[in-house]
Amino acid sequence: MPPTLGQLIDTAITRLRDTSPTPRIDVEALALHVFQLTRAALMTRAADTPTPADTEHFRACIERRHAGEPVAYITGRREFWSLDLAVSPATLIPRPETELLVEQALAHIPADAAHIVIDLGTGSGAIALAIAHERPSARVVGTDCSRDAIAIATANAARLHLTNVELRHGDWFTPLADLRAHVIVSNPPYVRADDPHLTRGDVRFEPREALASGENGLDAIRRIITTAPQYLTQGGWILLEHAPDQAPAVTALLRQYGFVDDARHTDLLGNNRLSMARRPT
Ligand code: GLN
Repeated sequence: MPPTLGQLIDTAITRLRDTSPTPRIDVEALALHVFQLTRAALMTRAADTPTPADTEHFRACIERRHAGEPVAYITGRREFWSLDLAVSPATLIPRPETELLVEQALAHIPADAAHIVIDLGTGSGAIALAIAHERPSARVVGTDCSRDAIAIATANAARLHLTNVELRHGDWFTPLADLRAHVIVSNPPYVRADDPHLTRGDVRFEPREALASGENGLDAIRRIITTAPQYLTQGGWILLEHAPDQAPAVTALLRQYGFVDDARHTDLLGNNRLSMARRPT
């Protein structure tokens, strides 16, 4: 007898118990992906027998997860700011805590203003697309040094019908020519190069250049802060995600390079995850 959907799911949860911290959540996500069901149908169709092809595909996905691969790379999708995004191993998997950066950026972009926004190291385009989606009058330009990431971000913009966002290939500010933005945002790499966290769990599979940034994790942030004044209008804001223990160093850099009105924001756990400041008027 070929297995039912319910049996396949139970077997898969047992299979992932030792290698995934979230076996049930992973199995559900992979089942929704393979069987193209709604979450409700997943519960009510437990007695159905999937086709042999779908059964094989599902088992293959579970084996990839068992080998450690992140669910988002297996399904090729991740939700961010309620937008369904394509992701690939060329891009970081968008994190829920990065929604804080979007939220704070939006607070500095008036709804009807034709503001220009730059997203540095856009990856899958998550931040740029969320802002473009919330602020149709703004023009958002995302850059990334990975050609593959820019291809993914461009496809995401097209699929979401966002026409006020433009993705450009190149290192940080390089593809921006003489653009001047009202707001610069970035979730740059900021992990210390020797952080053991890079060799564990899902992070192992993500692009190292999107995560690690020199001995103290501040190389990219320093580069961005030193160059940002040239690309900001007077009074324009910069908002950067960073590790909680980097807040004092990031504040010091912002002040050193002439930024004023610096402020920090904490995530739901009370950690400083975000620093912002502006170019003097
Ligand atoms: N928060 C991520 C992590 O710890 C790092 C993201 C980044 O470097 N931009 O895996």
